[in-house]
Amino acid sequence: MDNETKYQKELIVNWHITEACNHRCNYCFAKWDKQNNELMNNEESVSKLMDEIQKLPSILNNKYLTKFESIRLNLVGGETFLNLRKVTKIIHQAKQRQFNLSAITNGSRLNDELIELIADSFGSIGFSVDSLENATNIEIGRTEKNSVMNTNKVLTNINHIKKLNPSIDIKINTVVSSLNRLENLSTFIDKASPNKWKVFKVLPVVTRENEISQYDFIQFVQRHSKFEDIISSENNDEMTDSYLMIDPIGRFFQNSILGNGYSYSRPIINIGIDKALDETKFDANKFHNRYRNNLISSHQVS
Ligand code: SF4
Repeated sequence: MDNETKYQKELIVNWHITEACNHRCNYCFAKWDKQNNELMNNEESVSKLMDEIQKLPSILNNKYLTKFESIRLNLVGGETFLNLRKVTKIIHQAKQRQFNLSAITNGSRLNDELIELIADSFGSIGFSVDSLENATNIEIGRTEKNSVMNTNKVLTNINHIKKLNPSIDIKINTVVSSLNRLENLSTFIDKASPNKWKVFKVLPVVTRENEISQYDFIQFVQRHSKFEDIISSENNDEMTDSYLMIDPIGRFFQNSILGNGYSYSRPIINIGIDKALDETKFDANKFHNRYRNNLISSHQVS
């Protein structure tokens, strides 16, 4: 493979469109400033943000010698599909600009309408699944009112989506914490048959609760080694400062591994994406390596 073909051509931009979620996972780091002015509430602001995002490939290609030709907008939350009407408008705007689309979801809001929308508009859809045990899902906080996340329903939905769009990429995201570190998810992964299984070590951004050792994390990955062809695992260092992430009010943000939250740029639509990128603390080498080695990644939160 020559150098040219080794470069990732699709730039992935993770936009956390909302902080709102119907689950309460205790490690969740979808916690920004609890401001009520989420960009998705204003169509004009969404449009401005999309226009700015569209400029990113050429800006990055100049700065980091990447070779991006297209954009994949990865919609994340909170729960991405909590407000279907607003998400539909975002999808429409993204399509107008020829962005490819992907999303991460906890799967709880999927119904026939949404499944059709996903099958029709998305190149990839990721589901967050940490545990097959009701008790563990309750402990993690993957519940809504009195009902616990139903992994069988997730499987049914995956099959339905694949039937409508056989070429869609299915991903599973799993966060390994002290609550599920000893689990074996093989039966679920066998049935879901995803194209990729992203396994993350719980990231102590907002809380250090439920942290695990690197040894525990490796044990979890090794327990599932039969899926090594589709597993992509990331420890805390690899996850830090190497994603392009936008928060619900339209600022770039980066994780801190010190457990004290995020650092932010000013809002992209106020100062322009070039300046906002300069205000973002991210590691150009990690970023460059991630793409140069063709590691396509998405974010852990759904
Ligand atoms: S981790 Fe995902 S599903 Fe859980 S509360 Fe956070 S946004 Fe919701």
